[in-house]
Amino acid sequence: MSILRPLDNLDVDGKRVLVRADLNVPMHHGRIEDTTRIERLLPTLRHLLDHNAKVILISHFGRPKGEFDRDLSLAPLADALSHILEDKEVRFAIDCIGKEAEDAVNALAPGEVLLLENLRFHPGEKANDPHFASALAALGDCYVNDTFSCSHRAHASIVGLAEALPSAAGFLLQQEVENLQNVLQDAEKPLAAIVGGAKVSTKLAVLENLVEKVDALVIGGAMANTFLLAQGLPIGNSLHEPDLVRKAQEILDKASVGGCQILLPNDVVTARALEPQTECTICYVSDVASDSMILDIGPETVGRIRETLSTCKTVIWNGPMGAFEVSPFDVGTISIARAVASLTQQGKLVSVGGGGDVVSALGSAGLTSSFTYISTAGGAFLEWLEGKELPGIAVLR
Ligand code: ADP
Ligand code: MG
Repeated sequence: MSILRPLDNLDVDGKRVLVRADLNVPMHHGRIEDTTRIERLLPTLRHLLDHNAKVILISHFGRPKGEFDRDLSLAPLADALSHILEDKEVRFAIDCIGKEAEDAVNALAPGEVLLLENLRFHPGEKANDPHFASALAALGDCYVNDTFSCSHRAHASIVGLAEALPSAAGFLLQQEVENLQNVLQDAEKPLAAIVGGAKVSTKLAVLENLVEKVDALVIGGAMANTFLLAQGLPIGNSLHEPDLVRKAQEILDKASVGGCQILLPNDVVTARALEPQTECTICYVSDVASDSMILDIGPETVGRIRETLSTCKTVIWNGPMGAFEVSPFDVGTISIARAVASLTQQGKLVSVGGGGDVVSALGSAGLTSSFTYISTAGGAFLEWLEGKELPGIAVLR
């Protein structure tokens, strides 16, 4: 693509190339649940290795508090990367800056791959601290951003590095921008958005903007609980954010003024604990027991969402409808995924899905190729959709 500095134009022969990837893959009890994000890095990695580069991969993982956290180490990702690179050795350095990182980089030969430890173990990453950015920049001769999914963050590894070194957009980043532009530039209306997942707080700004843009907004997952509470409904022990009840009410008001149809669950699946094959109850949202948790949308809600989707021309989806990692609380997410996939296959709907967890759910249901486009990005793709220039992309123009 012409507007972003392309990787093909970057001279990488024998060079130390810092590649910002998104290795923030869904993990459950230390096991990688979905390798889509890793696999989609392959074109860039192959290009760099074929052109004799010394590849240094950098990424964040989870939300550490600016210091080392054993549970959020990137170490397990080295094996996963090695596996995808047909058992090519991927070395690991226990820090992303300083002596450990420098020694590991100095030991690297052209055509070899090194993974550095979680960037967010240093507060300078999120702060885009110039000292942290230059410590990182000192490890490379040039920089490649291959993560659309993190390009909405003005962090050191996204913006600071691109300013400090000769830089380019990797093939995955280019592909994401190109495809989203093609699919959503002049999105046909009615346009629906499905937003779910764990928290309102992480997607608040997006929800506020979406109600102005879309004709229908489906709210599911745990974030729906805060909205249900805002409507005075009982939510028992469900995951929710009490601080955001007022904000949720404002969003509902804004939607009703602007003519955006809001679809909240009217029935839900509840259980006392989030455990596999636990005893669960389907009930109306007015009847949630005080000792239970809402863990999925119910069958009537699925039917209503399906009906709305059948009147729409375009749908964008980020965030699962329930705690889909644990059966049977995946039923709502999978049912909606099947409905979207089927309408897409019939040529009635243009569908774009994004976000680590949705991509993982679609993958396990075998539905990935039935959507018009699947983005590795969640938040970034929603911000892009708001018409915002993402800082990581602006700096590569
Ligand atoms: P994405 O990665 O697709 O953007 P999020 O990271 O925001 O999605 O949220 C995904 C998480 O939300 C999943 O781990 C899922 O189990 C959790 N979740 C969804 N609905 C519920 C619920 N009702 N109760 C508890 N957790 C939920
Ligand atoms: Mg997630």
